[in-house]
Amino acid sequence: MTLDKRNLYRLPWSMNDNPIAWLEVTDVCNIHCEGCYRQHMTGHKPLEQIKEEVLFFKRWRNPDNVSIAGGEPLIHPQIIDLVAFIAQNRIKPIILTNAMALTPELLRELKKAGLAGFTIHIDSHQNRPHWRGKNEAELNELRQHYADMIAAERGLYVIFNSTVYPSTFREIPDVMRWGQANIDRVHGLVFITYRTATTDTHVAHDVADRQVDFGKLSYVVESFDDKFVTSPEVYQIIKDNLPEYEPSGYLGGSIVHTSFKWLAGAIIGSKKKVYGSVGKKTMEMAQAGHHLINGTYLAYLSQAKIGAQVFLLSPWDATLRQAARNWLREVVRHPGQLLASLHVQSIGIIQAPDLLPEGRADMCDSCPDMTVYEGKLINSCRMDEYRLFGGFLSVVEQPAESEHA
Ligand code: SF4
Repeated sequence: MTLDKRNLYRLPWSMNDNPIAWLEVTDVCNIHCEGCYRQHMTGHKPLEQIKEEVLFFKRWRNPDNVSIAGGEPLIHPQIIDLVAFIAQNRIKPIILTNAMALTPELLRELKKAGLAGFTIHIDSHQNRPHWRGKNEAELNELRQHYADMIAAERGLYVIFNSTVYPSTFREIPDVMRWGQANIDRVHGLVFITYRTATTDTHVAHDVADRQVDFGKLSYVVESFDDKFVTSPEVYQIIKDNLPEYEPSGYLGGSIVHTSFKWLAGAIIGSKKKVYGSVGKKTMEMAQAGHHLINGTYLAYLSQAKIGAQVFLLSPWDATLRQAARNWLREVVRHPGQLLASLHVQSIGIIQAPDLLPEGRADMCDSCPDMTVYEGKLINSCRMDEYRLFGGFLSVVEQPAESEHA
């Protein structure tokens, strides 16, 4: 099946009713990732300020979860207190981390404070000590280490995400295969396509139309000659290797109507076999049902293990029906499979902002990763433009030499 918005459910998220609140607690980190959007300028935020931001989100965002991000949140000295504060406010705290500072002891304390789960970022462009020069397949050993550590604690969920570079695009199936083999303990995988702007070909202006040195931003490089990977390409390489995969929901671009900025989906399977995916109707029922019952939309599945009862939704969902047929066929052939646990694993694809010729950027429509900066909600991926230049920059191609004359 080719990617077509008509076959997908447009996630109903918006600025003021969005399952995710992106809380930045520090801009300090213990490694340096090539795809990072944040640089060290101010350090750890005080706990009181963080609490105010949580309450701000509660009022203006209606989140199901708070994504505690940074920098590296695990090195914030009051991480336990702030997890507890979010949980006391009846919002699920989730930590977005590189996991380098994660130990079984810290894990236990975080769980006791009310942590719901982790999103762990691991990829081969992170300059991790002891893991330099490793490819994505080799990094599965590190993913396994953290997946096992978290599974041993029980009751926490974990998603692994990675930035996809042109040089690592072909390695996506290696990560997918590892994820499938660990479907009993890995709740999701997310692939984020790398984007950057370049100072050799572009110039930037601030909101007052002054030219600025945008090379100061961590997400700007001198030059980049490769072609950026797109979400449809990530979709296709997964599909080519796992035909049972289908996304079910999407967010488009804020400017370009053909963009697929977020592709959300979930595969269904056991440790041995993937039977299929949930379709757009199941995604719609999950979003609407969660909102009806809990008052918030849903971004993270807290339970990976599901029974065959998931197939009861098949009459409304053709994609799920196909998964049910595959599962039944397998059970007829191998009746022992009736006893094998069925799991769901979410698969996310994110295409980061694309620069457009007129200077604006095609962002994620209804951006789920908005953070709070000086009392305003702004896209977290571009917050450093606010911190360094007071607002979003306009980035355009440099005029040709002859135009200077
Ligand atoms: S626009 Fe929002 S969702 Fe999209 S990459 Fe930026 S922060 Fe993430």
